[in-house]
Amino acid sequence: LIPMQRERAWVEIDLSALAHNVQQLQMRLAAGTELMAVVKADAYGHGAVAIAQSALQAGATWLGVATIPEGIELREAGIQAPILLLGATNTAEQVQAIARWRLQPTLCTPRQALVFSETAGKLTLRQPLPVHLKLDTGMSRLGAPWQDAAAFGQLVQGLPHLHIASAYSHLATADEPDETVMRLQQRRFEAAIAQMRQAGVNPPKLHLANSAATLADSALHYDRVRVGLAMYGLYPAPHLAQGIDLRPVMQIKARVTQVKAIAPGTGVSYGYRFIADRDMTIATVAIGYADGVPRNLSNRMTGLVRGQHVPQIGAITMDQMMLDVSTIPNLQEGEVVTLLGQDGQARISADDWAETLGTISWEILCSFKHRLPRLTI
Ligand code: PLP
Repeated sequence: LIPMQRERAWVEIDLSALAHNVQQLQMRLAAGTELMAVVKADAYGHGAVAIAQSALQAGATWLGVATIPEGIELREAGIQAPILLLGATNTAEQVQAIARWRLQPTLCTPRQALVFSETAGKLTLRQPLPVHLKLDTGMSRLGAPWQDAAAFGQLVQGLPHLHIASAYSHLATADEPDETVMRLQQRRFEAAIAQMRQAGVNPPKLHLANSAATLADSALHYDRVRVGLAMYGLYPAPHLAQGIDLRPVMQIKARVTQVKAIAPGTGVSYGYRFIADRDMTIATVAIGYADGVPRNLSNRMTGLVRGQHVPQIGAITMDQMMLDVSTIPNLQEGEVVTLLGQDGQARISADDWAETLGTISWEILCSFKHRLPRLTI
């Protein structure tokens, strides 16, 4: 009997690969550097609760999410580890939720700091609210300008009901071989921290590194690294793949629902973007763009069947796609096709899709968080 979740198409999550990746990363960290598992966007489509629990078990001590609901989901699952909100929160209502669920916010602006202090004051908290000061050292996204670090730090330190738990920044180009911008950001971060200290503000913890910076140089680790992609088993860039063995955690699989012979000249799928030029055997597979396979991969991807690559043909449709299985003898309905992952010696990685599509593997992983059942193995 095939379990219902494996009837059509599914995401397989290998938690032993996750634990392996966390351990590989930890071997690279200086003693005393903590690992924050970045589990925002439902753990990059892998399932936040299971990933967070496994990462903590494997040695991560912090979790990072983007939004308050993402943090609440982890708390409701009983997770006790400290959770940093990487995204910005600005309103009094958000402060209430943050305090109630023991999330730790990122502060970027004086206005935000004032709202937080005032609201925290009304909540009669047992302890001041821990806050994390974000400095913009060159990403131009969130954070106080690094030149203003001392003034910003003094302002927050002078406000009641808040406690500065860390100062951090985010790198814009850590995955590029040219380190110029990354090193400029590093110098700005250090200068900003030095200015803060001179002004009497001493953030107890510092952090700067994402996956790429964690792999690039231990001088960027400081007290904590914030790792997403590498934990999920992908390399942020080919030049950062040396000396560390990462294993993809996610695989995408689907079943063959029909196998048929087609004659030369037969058009396949919407718009006939594929027309057979010979006698072919094709398979219909129960996965499509609504499941997360980008439609732009039509005619540009392969599937793995019995350990072999077979070309996808014609437009990928909402729930189904076709494969040219002429090389597979006697393929049966119900056989499993691997769209992303490993089958025998053959492999398809999110990097392959990202390269074809001109995007990044982060985006590919995140496309599988909606429709497919997720099976943890
Ligand atoms: N830190 C911050 C502030 C982030 O926004 C992210 C994700 O984009 C990360 C760390 C983790 O990045 P990565 O997945 O490249 O390790």
